[in-house]
Amino acid sequence: MAATPREAIARVSAVRTLVPDVLEADLDLTEPLTLAFEAGQWISVPFGPKQVRAYSIASSPRSPARLTLCADVAPDGLGSRWFRRLTAGAEVCFKGPLGGFVRPPEERRTPLFVAEEIGIVPVRAIIAELAPGAAATLIYGAPDHRRPYDVELRERARDAGGFAYHPVSGSDVAAAVERLTQAGTDIVAYAAGGAAMIKRVREILLARGLDRKAIKWERFW
Ligand SMILES: Cc1cc2nc3c(=O)[nH]c(=O)nc-3n(C[C@H](O)[C@H](O)[C@H](O)COP(=O)(O)OP(=O)(O)OC[C@H]3O[C@@H](n4cnc5c(N)ncnc54)[C@H](O)[C@@H]3O)c2cc1C
Repeated sequence: MAATPREAIARVSAVRTLVPDVLEADLDLTEPLTLAFEAGQWISVPFGPKQVRAYSIASSPRSPARLTLCADVAPDGLGSRWFRRLTAGAEVCFKGPLGGFVRPPEERRTPLFVAEEIGIVPVRAIIAELAPGAAATLIYGAPDHRRPYDVELRERARDAGGFAYHPVSGSDVAAAVERLTQAGTDIVAYAAGGAAMIKRVREILLARGLDRKAIKWERFW
């Protein structure tokens, strides 16, 4: 059962640059000391009345005392500037876990993951929890020089039998979905990224005969 969201406090223990303008921050929980969540869920960081930014949890639910967040700070708005300023020792207040972009343990349909740029964060978190040989396809649209987690995804595709990895340019995501899907297959899709990409991918998959409920999506921008 999904955990009830709650207010929480954590302290930053490390910040890393993964690729240009994409940062990861480790948050060690102080109140509560651990947080139950599901891969794909997110937290909400408040910046004032009615001003929040959402960040997907990049780390595994198997490590409930430390949450890793990963942000694209190129948009340079309130959230990006806050993330850029994070340093070890900083206190972070947030609410979570939130959201239904998760893969329930009883799900048996083969997943098709579609990620655009930083939309990879919840997708990669879900993929990391799949059984090693589980069948899954990932279409990941991003510029080659700005593709966080590319190395580990390539390694999984090489080492874990059923995982097919298709890195493409941002503009080729819809074409890749067209190329790699067929009507009549028993798949469940998870798409995360910008609104335009999600709309196009939904149109393609609905035309392939997928049920609306078989297409989960998380709109980042
Ligand atoms: C459920 C959910 C989970 C999210 N998880 C993450 C996450 O794990 N990592 C992360 O970096 N962001 C994530 N986001 C987006 C995040 O909440 C912020 O919107 C983002 O960081 C930009 O905030 P900002 O204040 O810097 O820019 P804003 O002031 O919010 O946006 C400035 C402009 O940039 C556009 N924009 C925002 N983000 C992007 C982007 N990535 N690419 C292109 N254009 C963009 C906006 O539409 C706007 O026009 C998530 C959003 C949601 C709803």
